[in-house]
Amino acid sequence: MDEHKKMPKTLYGMKPNEILGALGLEKTFQGKQVYKWLVRGVSSFEEMTDLPKPLRFRLGEAMPRLASSEVVDEQTDSSGATKLAIQLIDGAVVECVLLTDKEDRKTACLSSQVGCAMGCTFCRTGTMGLVRNLQAFEIIEQFVHLRRIAPDTTHIVFMGMGEPMANFAEVIQAINYLHDPAGFDIGLRRITISTCGLIPGILQLAEINLPVKLAVSLVTADNAQRTELMPVNKAYPLEELKSALLHYQHVVGKRFTLEYVMLHNYNTGLQSARKLAAFIRGLDVIVNLIPWNPAAELDWETPDGKEIAAFTRELDLLGVPYTRRFSRGRGVNGACGQLAVPKNVCDSNL
Ligand code: SAH
Ligand code: SF4
Repeated sequence: MDEHKKMPKTLYGMKPNEILGALGLEKTFQGKQVYKWLVRGVSSFEEMTDLPKPLRFRLGEAMPRLASSEVVDEQTDSSGATKLAIQLIDGAVVECVLLTDKEDRKTACLSSQVGCAMGCTFCRTGTMGLVRNLQAFEIIEQFVHLRRIAPDTTHIVFMGMGEPMANFAEVIQAINYLHDPAGFDIGLRRITISTCGLIPGILQLAEINLPVKLAVSLVTADNAQRTELMPVNKAYPLEELKSALLHYQHVVGKRFTLEYVMLHNYNTGLQSARKLAAFIRGLDVIVNLIPWNPAAELDWETPDGKEIAAFTRELDLLGVPYTRRFSRGRGVNGACGQLAVPKNVCDSNL
């Protein structure tokens, strides 16, 4: 190792040969050794016990932390959801959540951006506006921090802050890294990208034919309502979205999910159910019903049990396949659409 070598800001996101070069290691196999330790979740060179002690010491002196970001807050609620606030290299803060379901399956809910430019009126992240895109290593590091809490994390969803299709290249780079069978080895079918319906991203995903799961936040199948709720619908209205989804389905051939955030007295009536049934005709989808998660600064309301039951009864009659998502993470404002960091915390201080 060259004593005067400039150290990288993180080792995450690098392949073994890149680690080798970045750290100026002399022996080729040491790149692989370091990579394996990163996957095991160590946080310092000192813990990499199969490297020679003097080398560990020198590396540790030159690079005390292996990641560029650090956890600045951790909260767990009664559903077992843990939300982390992670401070990035420029001072911006991003949130991510670890969710545990009934079968004890652990899912890392990751952010793709700090804030979001899409401005959906029911979403807390939308109120922040976009602060900046995350780089691939910053996405990967969220997973690394969450996995330290739950080493048996097997699934990833891009349902945290931000619109993954608006940061496509970095999200795909992070996915490829996390998928590496010699590394974190997360199966592609265990990774879900959720989008508000940015058509170019959906088409790009079809083009690269990466067999991750796709989820599309439909929220309503009524164009006027959708434009009111989601500004993205002006640029990419429902008919165009449907054509893109038909194309995606044709190319990828896998069933995907439509997310339907249920808003009290707004999109849960008979007409809404009928429009939804018409929209999904020809699509191999399952609709994921999500009762709106409250956010103090937003005016929407969560539908009650009766309202939801009436809506699902209609969906049953119309033959719409759906699942109901239990809102884990509400206790820490870590459920879907509840992630937000005050703007002053996000502003870069570099
Ligand atoms: N930008 C992407 C992914 C992040 S949002 C997208 O929009 O799909 C993740 C999910 O949370 C989306 O399905 C979105 O519709 C949903 N969501 C946003 N705000 C919500 C809220 N207040 N309650 C319930 N779900 C919400
Ligand atoms: Fe952005 Fe998704 Fe929230 Fe819309 S729902 S504002 S796209 S994070």
